[in-house]
Amino acid sequence: MKRELIKLPYRPDELQPVIGKNTVDCHHGKHLQAYVNNLNNLVAGTPFEEADLETIVRASDGALFNNAGQVLNHELYFTQFAPGGAPLQEGKLRDALVATFGTFDDFRARFEAEGVALFGSGWVWLAADAAGRLSIVKEPNAGNPVTKQLRPLLGFDVWEHAYYLDYQNRRADHLKALWAIVDWKAVQARY
Ligand code: MN
Repeated sequence: MKRELIKLPYRPDELQPVIGKNTVDCHHGKHLQAYVNNLNNLVAGTPFEEADLETIVRASDGALFNNAGQVLNHELYFTQFAPGGAPLQEGKLRDALVATFGTFDDFRARFEAEGVALFGSGWVWLAADAAGRLSIVKEPNAGNPVTKQLRPLLGFDVWEHAYYLDYQNRRADHLKALWAIVDWKAVQARY
């Protein structure tokens, strides 16, 4: 099975000014496409050829882990945004965020701080365990909480390719701005 690049649920210019069109074009069309191509080449003729992404990520290491992880990560990433965002509704995710982090604003501040504190390239995730308990998980490089038996709900990419064209070295400004385009309806559906 040849894996295809996911289609974006918005036009590449529709996340502006939070994420510029050039960043979306390059991040989706070049970086993610390269991970998809690498993954297709790596699994060809192996038992992983028909496996789903989470299975590959949990069972692999090295180049296969890196490329499968980055395909999984970016599929979650690009489908959690919408032009103008969508607010977090009342419900079990909001209740769990408030119970775990204090207020919704406290959660967002913690999440941003963890993303800023991550050294080098990687991801900051909001994740849930099997009982629905929430945590913020920092992962280096291609890491995803599925390797810790956690379900990823929301992920901010802190690789420089995610923000450098728009924000240069100002990762904190980029992470703070991302809230304006988070589609909480999509995030809630993962919980
Ligand atoms: Mn990326």
